[in-house]
Amino acid sequence: MSNNRVIIFDTSLRDGEQAPGAAMTVPEKIQVAHQLARLGVDVIEAGFPISSPGQYEAVRRIAREVDGPTICALARAKKDDIEAAGKALEGGANTRIHTFIATSDIHLESKFADARYGETLAQKRETVVEMALEAVRHARTFTDDVEFSAEDAGRTDTDYLVRIVKAVIEAGATTINIPDTTGYCVPDEYALLIRQVIEGAGSPEGVVFSTHCHDDLGLAAANSLAGLQAGARQVECTINGIGERAGNASLEEVVMALNVRSDHFGLETGIQPKLLFPTSKMVSTFTGFQVQPNKAIIGKNAFAHEAGIHQDGVLKNRETYEIMRAEDVGQEAESIRLGRHSGRHGLFSRLERLGIRIEPGDRAGVYAQFVGLADRKKEINDSDLINLFHHEPASMDSPHYSLEKFHVTVGSGQEPQATVTVKNLQDDVIIEKTATGDGPIDALYSAIDHAINEGHDLVNYSIRSVSEGSDSFGEVSVLIGIGGPLFAGKASSTDVIEASAHAYMNALNSLAAYRLDKESIEFVGSGIMQAFDSPKES
Ligand code: MN
Repeated sequence: MSNNRVIIFDTSLRDGEQAPGAAMTVPEKIQVAHQLARLGVDVIEAGFPISSPGQYEAVRRIAREVDGPTICALARAKKDDIEAAGKALEGGANTRIHTFIATSDIHLESKFADARYGETLAQKRETVVEMALEAVRHARTFTDDVEFSAEDAGRTDTDYLVRIVKAVIEAGATTINIPDTTGYCVPDEYALLIRQVIEGAGSPEGVVFSTHCHDDLGLAAANSLAGLQAGARQVECTINGIGERAGNASLEEVVMALNVRSDHFGLETGIQPKLLFPTSKMVSTFTGFQVQPNKAIIGKNAFAHEAGIHQDGVLKNRETYEIMRAEDVGQEAESIRLGRHSGRHGLFSRLERLGIRIEPGDRAGVYAQFVGLADRKKEINDSDLINLFHHEPASMDSPHYSLEKFHVTVGSGQEPQATVTVKNLQDDVIIEKTATGDGPIDALYSAIDHAINEGHDLVNYSIRSVSEGSDSFGEVSVLIGIGGPLFAGKASSTDVIEASAHAYMNALNSLAAYRLDKESIEFVGSGIMQAFDSPKES
């Protein structure tokens, strides 16, 4: 690879998905991974296998099913984590294990407070170097492509950072990531850190240095670019900048800065910019995280010229106020809406552009679904299409419960009441229950709880409109928990009460599948609890 080629490492499915409420189902993650491959990313971080059965399954399937990019799995510097990552990646063509350990004093003092890691800070530092070496060596038994991250490198003592980096390179790490985990650095400072680490390590041949920046001060993209100028050749980033807290560096911003200002940076990537917007759409639909209208590159207004003087200028010569064109980043086609008179060609070419893969045998069925939707909605936009064809509910292979019927009554001066008929498919029993509640959804969920009668907490319920107009799709996301693992359910419909009912049933079915799946519980059992009681970001 030439020295001006930047490796784009997408972590939308790992760091991105760690954003509260951004959970995606396994089928959704596989679709996103296929789209990232089309987009041209070099590495896909597909998940953190030991943290949950869903993460393990997502990595396992993406490693086997997605061609092109290197598929990466995250692991703490622990034997069980690395084994889970190695096992999940088995059978993949190009795989990477990404192992990490905290190196800043503040992390060492708190995460490694226990005396078994050493009494003094100096001793703890030694222990952490040993743990890192062991982890890298162990990871190398699964793959030759091993990445090491010094968590909170942005606040780590530079001499110590250089020491651990040199050691892990000797042990076989081929990519060294210097994360600004807390989003604390500013560009010149981060560039200096990267330069010091590369020089301190002796600019080793064949080793790639990487940025991983968070946007807590709105500097993630700027810091990533500064890191590249200082010699890093991999950028860790996410679609739409999703991620922990304020998010990660956004892929589209970093890529388009390199692209539009190639005169300044002299660096290139393998990204197809025209696929940035469709990919952004897909990720925002699946995570439920709307993109702000004024977001650079992919925001709805990023290319809208409102002021008359600007409009006039753009009409005369678009370069007066535009440094890139909407169509360069794939923004133009959204404005062409499909309706009931759109033919098969219009539908299938749009789906293809959106990265939605329809097998020839399924085309007739898909077209029928589209026509059905067109009967309910005047205009169908990209979000509707993604929603219609992608939303396979999680673990629906063998659902445990099915909602046979529901009836909800609401009205002024009357307490909302719901009646449901739920079938337990395992023992073929049908139960009907009625409940009241503070509102229609509360009543509905109480009635379902009575019918199912298994303990769990409703952790989160959210509803949003996927497209525009009062006939738009409402998408409901629910998260339920049993004091540890969380189970997500999502459903959409033009009827929000129906969507609420199905989202809840999907989450309950995931929970029921988890309770039944003894094998996966045993495999990740200890890992889940470890992962949930310590911070899992890197
Ligand atoms: Mn991170």
